[in-house]
Amino acid sequence: MNIDGVNTGVVIDHIQEGKGWEIYNLLGLDKVDCTVAIIQRVESTKYGKKDMIKVDGDVDIDLDILGYFDTKMTVNIVKNHELVEKLKLTLPEKLTGVIKCKNPRCITSTEQEIVHQFRLADPENKRYRCIYCDVVYKE
Ligand SMILES: [Zn+2]
Repeated sequence: MNIDGVNTGVVIDHIQEGKGWEIYNLLGLDKVDCTVAIIQRVESTKYGKKDMIKVDGDVDIDLDILGYFDTKMTVNIVKNHELVEKLKLTLPEKLTGVIKCKNPRCITSTEQEIVHQFRLADPENKRYRCIYCDVVYKE
């Protein structure tokens, strides 16, 4: 595990090739006040090519939402240049402001200020339901 350049922060590894920017935006890393590096198309022994993100700084980012995206990513927590924890990603129970309800009759369609929220209804099939109208989210 290559954590070079990170003093205290997070290294997200095994991101699907080409998805680095998507993850960057998903985590809101454009808004954090620290060094962030996206490394694209790194040769990986296990999966061919991959992307990586290194965040050097003690920032508060919602890493749980990564599990919605891809549970194969590895999240490494670094403190004082040492790997202190590897997070196991699972499907989050709740998704807040990540996906949007597409039901035109849902309150979130008419009330723009409401934050879209979903709950995990069926983990096996990765199904989420809108907490307002109960409709299942479809890509
Ligand atoms: Zn809804």
